[in-house]
Amino acid sequence: MKGKLITLEGIDGSGKSTITGRLKSNPVFYEFVFTREPTTGWIGEAVNRAIHSDTDDLAELLLFTADHAEHISKLIIPALKSGKNVISDRYSGSRYAYQGMTLKNRFADPMKWIQDIHKNWTVDPDLTILFDIEPGIAVERCGNRGDKTKFEKISFLEGVRANYLRLARENPERFVIIDTHRSVDEIEADVISTIFSLLR
Ligand code: ADP
Repeated sequence: MKGKLITLEGIDGSGKSTITGRLKSNPVFYEFVFTREPTTGWIGEAVNRAIHSDTDDLAELLLFTADHAEHISKLIIPALKSGKNVISDRYSGSRYAYQGMTLKNRFADPMKWIQDIHKNWTVDPDLTILFDIEPGIAVERCGNRGDKTKFEKISFLEGVRANYLRLARENPERFVIIDTHRSVDEIEADVISTIFSLLR
């Protein structure tokens, strides 16, 4: 594919949306396509309903995965084929890390099981920027968020963070870990230079 796919991953409160907002308003990124998962389409809305209700964890994973399939075929592949660079705020890594936790009592190695059901149809990112942060600090930053989901508990997020770090260890060629215990300006500068070293 002609364009590059860059994904931003990390636990809730790690600063992904803040940085995405900064990049969107930076003229250097005007030609980029910005997207996110869950998407804003009807399957993404179904995912949001699942997140905010007592939906079975496997059903929830499959909804997220359906949303990913729709995202891949309708937006990601056409954009990359037309030569656009794409930045996605959350992508397949979120499923591996989060549902790797929610399904930990259902499968021996849920993260591997989830990666296996993505094989042969997902598009792997060229670069994944992992926003790494202590869950306690992330939850504090989200303190005033009115729409807390079941994913935002500290002990749960410790497991998600460990899953993300495992993904980074297993895919060192495409993962870059950014320490987000710093100022937004410093993080933004690191993210921009990481993206431009991929495109150079
Ligand atoms: P995410 O999209 O990863 O869930 P957000 O970008 O929504 O995270 O950030 C969560 C909260 O933390 C927001 O209130 C945001 O203003 C604040 N925040 C983001 N980055 C930083 C930072 N580097 N230092 C302090 N607060 C931050």
